[in-house]
Amino acid sequence: MPDRPAVLRVALPVPLPRSFDYLPPEGVAVEQVAVGQRLRVPFGQRELCGIVIERGLADQDVELRTALDLPDARPLLSGELLASLRWLSAYLHAPLGEVLATALPAMLRRGEPLPDIASYGWCLNEAGRTAWPAMRAGKPKQLAETLQHLRDEEALDAMCPGWRTPLRRLREHGWVDRIEITPERVAVAPCATAGIVLNDEQAQAIAAIRDRQGYAPTLLDGVTGSGKTEVYLQAIGDCLARGKQALVLVPEIGLTPQALARFRARLGAPVHALHSGLNDGERAAVWLKAAAGQARVIVGTRSAIFVPLPEAGLIVVDEEHDGSYKQFDGIRYHARDFALVRARALDVPIVLGSATPALETLHNARAGKFAHLRLKQRAGDAKPPLVRVQDVRKRPLRAGLSEESLAAIRSALDAGGQVLVFKNRRGYAPVLLCHDCGWSAHCSRCSMQDKPTAMTVHAHGRRLQCHHCGHRKPSPPACPDCGGLALQAQGNGTERIEEDLAARFDDVPVLRIDRGSTGHRDALQRHLDTLGTRPGILVGTQMLAKGHDLPNLTLVVVVGIDEGLFSADFRSGEKLAQLLIQVAGRAGRADKPGTVLLQTHHPEHPLLNTLVTCGYHAFADAELRLREEAGFPPFAHLALLRAEAKQAEPSLRFLQDAKATCMAWNAHAESNPHPNPSLGGREAEIVAIDGPLPAPMPRRAGYVRAQLLLSATSRKALHAALSTLMPALYAHPDARKLRWSLDVDPVDLY
Ligand code: ADP
Ligand code: ZN
Ligand code: ZN
Repeated sequence: MPDRPAVLRVALPVPLPRSFDYLPPEGVAVEQVAVGQRLRVPFGQRELCGIVIERGLADQDVELRTALDLPDARPLLSGELLASLRWLSAYLHAPLGEVLATALPAMLRRGEPLPDIASYGWCLNEAGRTAWPAMRAGKPKQLAETLQHLRDEEALDAMCPGWRTPLRRLREHGWVDRIEITPERVAVAPCATAGIVLNDEQAQAIAAIRDRQGYAPTLLDGVTGSGKTEVYLQAIGDCLARGKQALVLVPEIGLTPQALARFRARLGAPVHALHSGLNDGERAAVWLKAAAGQARVIVGTRSAIFVPLPEAGLIVVDEEHDGSYKQFDGIRYHARDFALVRARALDVPIVLGSATPALETLHNARAGKFAHLRLKQRAGDAKPPLVRVQDVRKRPLRAGLSEESLAAIRSALDAGGQVLVFKNRRGYAPVLLCHDCGWSAHCSRCSMQDKPTAMTVHAHGRRLQCHHCGHRKPSPPACPDCGGLALQAQGNGTERIEEDLAARFDDVPVLRIDRGSTGHRDALQRHLDTLGTRPGILVGTQMLAKGHDLPNLTLVVVVGIDEGLFSADFRSGEKLAQLLIQVAGRAGRADKPGTVLLQTHHPEHPLLNTLVTCGYHAFADAELRLREEAGFPPFAHLALLRAEAKQAEPSLRFLQDAKATCMAWNAHAESNPHPNPSLGGREAEIVAIDGPLPAPMPRRAGYVRAQLLLSATSRKALHAALSTLMPALYAHPDARKLRWSLDVDPVDLY
């Protein structure tokens, strides 16, 4: 019998829970290849790039293929990061190859060669220095002024967003040079405090963080404007002084040029940003600079949690409650939760900051797993806003606003302030209705509770759009049912409120900020820049709830929160409370006191009452008690199995089979109970099974969706059951015929 050949075991980005064996490329010995290296291999008719995860001996009787080539001399993934990603794959019950591919920047995932990670900067040359004083005023001249000093490209991204356009002009004249920035050229100044003296609460917080070494999770629980960012900056400064790297995660909306500029100005070390505005090459370069230890401070959104940190010293997660930390498709990881896992593996402190901590996080702090630091006062002289609940029952509303709100807007503007009108629904109006026969416009591809979902009216009534599947069409000129012309846009979206306010307050600018008007983060900043500090009105969705400093904002009017008060999802109360506190926190940030008006038809609602009179923590206490009674997280652990197909039947059959597997697992667990002190010692740890049920939105983009919810008080039991379930699902005859996914710790149950 011939010896079994040595092979490379490779994790490939395919939806199969296994690795694949290959012979090394021609001329390379297995021993020459390290775990964590990229390897390009043939796979069926395709070529794929995977990661070597093991060297081993081939199984008997398998036909082996030879790998194509080894793109890099060294491993891309190694040490702590590779170990943590293996953990993540096991925890999410997701194929390792897909998890590793998710962790790599797209360019590296595709197997492209490593980009050059030298840093470059731009500087005026002799000709430029001579020419710039005489240049016409404008963007190129402004940039030329900035480029009197050598500026690295990352700094330019922060200082002058969109700088590449005026740069082109300067290059055409031959006035600038591109210069490689060597480590000696990078000036690392000591942490500049910019004249800010920390207040007592901040000083205590930073002292407490300094005291903690090794893995030490801390919840920095501070009201909006309490100076949490100052505390992070100090902690990062300490970390840099110890010669270590710091990683800061921020929500997608929070990573503004303003925020980056603040970090850059204060840290005196290069700050590398990672966000969706970068191109593939830029993202890959930052990732590799982190791996090489060249990047000392990395500030990024969700996927930045995957950067290698060979010299890690600190992880910060700002606005840790933010929904954008959860990935909603593919590998459904939660960046905050994975940050905790990495901090533990790296044995470094981690600071989770928020004015409205997630209930899970508060629960962990109360259980003593996290240190809990509070900042109860706003920093400097800023006063907390005055919040008033306004009963609008039976009051006339104009574009959703009461007389009282309109009067408050007028006086805020007259006093020279800015106003934010917050409405969590974009578009012009939620429905298009025929006044003659009652027909309304619906999406043909989506439905909820057996009824097709309404299409939202956009573009001042000219277009219909489905917010669930993105389907768009022009508004019909007449009612398709009765032919009548009495079509009316019902209800109010941000567009209609903007239109109405612009007509009513024609002496001030009215700007609408939502995903429709402001696709890109820089566009949002430009929008706000046009307003400056003049009196004016901003109409927006949650895009405006955080991030940008609006020092002149004195009034916030919140309309249309009532839908959120009665939503069925177990997290909707928490999300609404967080949103209200965050929006309210925008008012009166500087020395101007702010007012918040909450318009509602349900002034007695316990959520509003508790929140407004007693604050977020009282709300959180009440909500946690409800969650405990109902058996929801953080008192239970959930996993949601979703399936969808063009017809209902295959999904339901698939989920039924999944349910049967779980029930068999339960039966086995019941006949072999493990003694579990937390359950009184005798009870078996079983998994509660809910469904299969149609998803809360059972038809989306033409697909019929169903789901099975698994929950358990013990995480161990849930994962043990999933470990039995998942191989059975991959082997299911329909597994390749429908779209299905497992979501461990789902944030939304739809
Ligand atoms: P948070 O992140 O908690 O919302 P920030 O750190 O952004 O708060 O601080 C809010 C504002 O207060 C900022 O303009 C900041 O410069 C200012 N600030 C923070 N700490 C102090 C302090 N100790 N003294 C004076 N101003 C401060
Ligand atoms: Zn009609
Ligand atoms: Zn639709």
